[in-house]
Amino acid sequence: MPTLPLVFMLIGLHFGRYLLSAGGAWAFFFGWKGNPLTATRRLQPGPFQRADLKRELLASAVTAVLFGTLFGVVFGGSTPVPFVRSGAGAVLEFFGWLGLIVLIHDTYFYWSHRLLHHRLVFPRVHALHHRSTNPSPFAALAFHPVEALMQVIWAVPLSLLVPIPSVVWLAFSFLAIFVNVLGHCGVEPYPLSWQTHPVLKWLNFATMHNRHHVKFDGNFGLYFSFWDRWLKTNNGPLTPALSPLRRERETG
Ligand SMILES: [Zn+2]
Ligand SMILES: [Zn+2]
Repeated sequence: MPTLPLVFMLIGLHFGRYLLSAGGAWAFFFGWKGNPLTATRRLQPGPFQRADLKRELLASAVTAVLFGTLFGVVFGGSTPVPFVRSGAGAVLEFFGWLGLIVLIHDTYFYWSHRLLHHRLVFPRVHALHHRSTNPSPFAALAFHPVEALMQVIWAVPLSLLVPIPSVVWLAFSFLAIFVNVLGHCGVEPYPLSWQTHPVLKWLNFATMHNRHHVKFDGNFGLYFSFWDRWLKTNNGPLTPALSPLRRERETG
């Protein structure tokens, strides 16, 4: 597809699915007043502030424009990369590539997130995202433009140098926004028992990222908590989800 139409299409895709996923999470957790999950798993007691929601939405719109423009310019005029195999082989290819991309992104996210917390970088770049100390689902793409570019720039050389099928990248981009919205949803949606399960505890929980927005000093992961656990940046009580965070916030 020519560059300009692709840029517009990708901006629409990024912003449209951000609105759908963040709006959907908002409607499910907070629009549905009697939602038992929200009642028992809310991570912070306070209401969301209108100024926070407005800032989160506006910054996310800018991020969507940057994402769409970057990928539109990089991939304009190129043809989609197909699967090498068909049938069951293509399914294997799909999940193999998807798993690899998620592992690469998780590692990149952890280390770039730690860089964003460096005292010289934080005030200029990452502070915008952290202005939400009680983040809503709409904070999912609320980044400074430099951070927005940092978030996705890793995918450019990988997609240009490695023949990963285009469908895998598309699926990954949906998974990434889903995980991102979940991390900012203000509620711990997973069963609390998962946080101590021998296998599932390696996931990154909304509790962890919410705590990151309260204390700023640990829990830098995205999909998994491998890096945080290995490097002992996995701070704070994890379970039960509600009461420890509430206590910390109320007692400072
Ligand atoms: Zn941070
Ligand atoms: Zn965040």
